[in-house]
Amino acid sequence: MCESEAGRAALRALDPQVAEAVAAEARRQQQHLGLIASENHCGAAIREATGSVLTDKYAEGYPDERYYGGCEVVDVVERLAAQRARQLFDAEHANVQPHAGSQANMAVYIAMLRPGAKVLGMSLAHGGHLTHGHSRNFSGQIYEVVSYGIEQGTGLIDYDQVHRMALQQNPALIIAGASSYSRTIDFEAFNDIAQEVGAYLMADIAHIAGLVAAGVHPSPLPHADFVTGTTHKTLRGPRGAFVLCRQEFAGRIDSAVMPGVQGGPFMHAIAAKAVAFGQAMRPEFKQYQQQVVATSRAMARVMIERGLPVVSGGTDTHMFLVDLTGNGMSGREALHLLAAANITVNKNTIPNDPRKPTETSGIRIGTPAITTRGLREEECRKIAHWIADILTARDPEEEAGALRPRVLEMCEAHPIPD
Ligand SMILES: *Cc1c(COP(=O)(O)O)cnc(C)c1O
Repeated sequence: MCESEAGRAALRALDPQVAEAVAAEARRQQQHLGLIASENHCGAAIREATGSVLTDKYAEGYPDERYYGGCEVVDVVERLAAQRARQLFDAEHANVQPHAGSQANMAVYIAMLRPGAKVLGMSLAHGGHLTHGHSRNFSGQIYEVVSYGIEQGTGLIDYDQVHRMALQQNPALIIAGASSYSRTIDFEAFNDIAQEVGAYLMADIAHIAGLVAAGVHPSPLPHADFVTGTTHKTLRGPRGAFVLCRQEFAGRIDSAVMPGVQGGPFMHAIAAKAVAFGQAMRPEFKQYQQQVVATSRAMARVMIERGLPVVSGGTDTHMFLVDLTGNGMSGREALHLLAAANITVNKNTIPNDPRKPTETSGIRIGTPAITTRGLREEECRKIAHWIADILTARDPEEEAGALRPRVLEMCEAHPIPD
């Protein structure tokens, strides 16, 4: 752990309950194999910036145009973060203030759409995100959302359907991007469709920002008008987000973020984003992202060999979905069984899932966090076999209990690096 001794002692003295919870979470992370595709372990430098005195500073506005005094230092920080984001993604403009991916997406909608405007996005049930038009999310409440999905059989985005729907529906905005899609997204194809119908294109790279930064997934730039992404998933930075766009939309995006969606920016988070963007320019980061995909592929292959189908038949990215319909188990049951072996996953709907979203027929497996721990293909194949052993066992609970010591042993051999 990186938090200074003094800081930890102060927390223990002031609030032993929270101090103990934080320590317990650190232990839990060390003792579990985290396979949640949206999670990662960000490292001591990022946590140091996130936990810094910058959290105290109010800085509504943008560098050199703040509403508060005393912003000289945080201006340096925000300029660094924005300049690095532009360089990393080869973008004309970067807004690094969104607190999370949801706010980044909201800012693009607020900047470019009137309430009631039509948006074409990927359905949540097929791998999209809440902010792509779910009925209980602001996006589904404020805008008229139509959704495309995955082609049955191939498990791939049905670009013909996207094209057909775009022509029929004439949306103002098309969204390309997903939370649980394991294949390369063809941003150029999306752009061709958007151009044809005169829609804006937003690429939501929340999950794959790290892969894109490292050139391991094709970049949505220059195809998309807007690119939103998070810094805490594959990018391995602090919790937060960003919006990229061309200079022509810079003013509209900036005023949509603040005052449109947010008040004061989290300067501590922006400092940590600057560190994350800088880190992502290093050669080691590219190697890390390549390794993330290699481990993901290795695990997907084992699942398929073991008779547990993977949606789309494999992966090009950091994650994949295991289809449990043939196995008879729900995603919820699988999650609890794997948890008993200290393996953490999330339940996930599969395309055309017969079960409710609270039950699901799939689990999502991602490798960013275990790759950060230094696990390579060999260990990851072993983990995939353990998962298959548990999910296909005659007595899965007993199997999970039996494998738990081996999971713990692997965790101990690969501590989360600082
Ligand atoms: C994770 C994610 C987001 C943002 O989520 P937050 O939890 O609000 O940071 C947005 N879009 C997609 C596709 C995501 O997977």
